Amino acid sequence: MSVSGKPPRRGLMLVLSSPSGAGKSTIARHLMEQDKDIVLSVSVTTRSRRPSEIDGVHYHFIDLPTFNRLRDQGDLLEWAEVHGNCYGTPKAPVERALSSGLDVLFDIDWQGADQVAHAMPEDLVRIFVLPPTMKELAARLERRAEDTPDVIAKRLANARAEIRHWRDYDYVLINKDLQTSLEKAQAILYAERMRRARTTWLEGFVESLLEEA
Ligand code: 5GP
Repeated sequence: MSVSGKPPRRGLMLVLSSPSGAGKSTIARHLMEQDKDIVLSVSVTTRSRRPSEIDGVHYHFIDLPTFNRLRDQGDLLEWAEVHGNCYGTPKAPVERALSSGLDVLFDIDWQGADQVAHAMPEDLVRIFVLPPTMKELAARLERRAEDTPDVIAKRLANARAEIRHWRDYDYVLINKDLQTSLEKAQAILYAERMRRARTTWLEGFVESLLEEA
């Protein structure tokens, strides 16, 4: 049995990517709150902490020498430079979660998704979140009001480059309404969990089914 008391299955890695402000972090948070079998991968970053962020919860905030050391030691599953800061996924917590039967949720960019796709292709499910319009994306970044105007301008300029990678993903959500997007993300997660290749316990189940008198 898995930690949740359900039959063991192969854990999956659910990647959510989008340009900043398209809403993926909110979708990720809601998915986590409503499902105890998926845990969030907390990245390391050299970016400064926003006022609303908690070290160890949203990110592990570290300096560049520490980041370089982790990367050079091979402790990161993937890493990338985004908007001029370094971000990376610590490998050990992901391996621990997957081996205990939990799924792992990643809020990472296309470069990271690409590296994970090469490292662990069969465990990966990729969702790309698009804003309904570029105007709405700009408005969301401004409403968030946690970044300086020049940082917002940089993120908007980078958004177009990020969006061009949408074809690398298995699923695409247009985040017009948060509740609808959340339901769609949940539906993807549930369906992907039921893939035959992940439900290894079915072998034994079907065998005993066929042996039934
Ligand atoms: P933010 O600074 O807004 O939190 O994140 C900026 C971008 O970096 C987002 O697109 C986010 O998904 C991405 N990101 C966050 N953590 C990681 C990571 O560990 N690896 C990669 N490749 N991208 C990350």
